[in-house]
Amino acid sequence: MSLQALETIGAVLHGHFLLTSGRHSALYFEKFRLLERPDRLVPMVSQLLEPLRKYSIDAVVGPTLGGVVVAYECARQLGVPALYAEREGEGRAFRRGSDLAPNSSVLVVDDVLTTGTSIREVLALMEQVGARVEAIGVLIDRSEQMPDFGVPLFSALRIPAESYPPENCPLCQQGVPLTKRGSR
Ligand SMILES: [Zn+2]
Repeated sequence: MSLQALETIGAVLHGHFLLTSGRHSALYFEKFRLLERPDRLVPMVSQLLEPLRKYSIDAVVGPTLGGVVVAYECARQLGVPALYAEREGEGRAFRRGSDLAPNSSVLVVDDVLTTGTSIREVLALMEQVGARVEAIGVLIDRSEQMPDFGVPLFSALRIPAESYPPENCPLCQQGVPLTKRGSR
């Protein structure tokens, strides 16, 4: 999957966007254009998992909402269960009676990595339940500076996308209309 292929399905938009972080960017990842396309998602997950197959993984964990789709497909391809880390208060929790066996080795996955907030919330949950995180996998890493999670980080596609604080945004200075997107 290339940047161009993502543009073709409308998963990457060009313009002037307000990100959930409050920063502005000329690129926006409309991840649902990818998450709703099994024909594109399945091969992208295969690509993501290639370097991850050397790890012994008992379960895959992903945060709601997009991470659920990615975790499910990763788990299907690895032949292990998937668990979903849902919002609870300021952090994440397993709900609906989901649980991990003690000392499980897990792969934590998500759709798009921007600042890493969701991943950090899942890592906090993994520490809380006593799971061992072997690695982190994301479909698209758009982080400007790859965050250090303390475990190996893999992505199917890395597209570092510049973002700016509103007061220092070149697109604002050019008077380009701002589009609000995002779901957080
Ligand atoms: Zn701006």
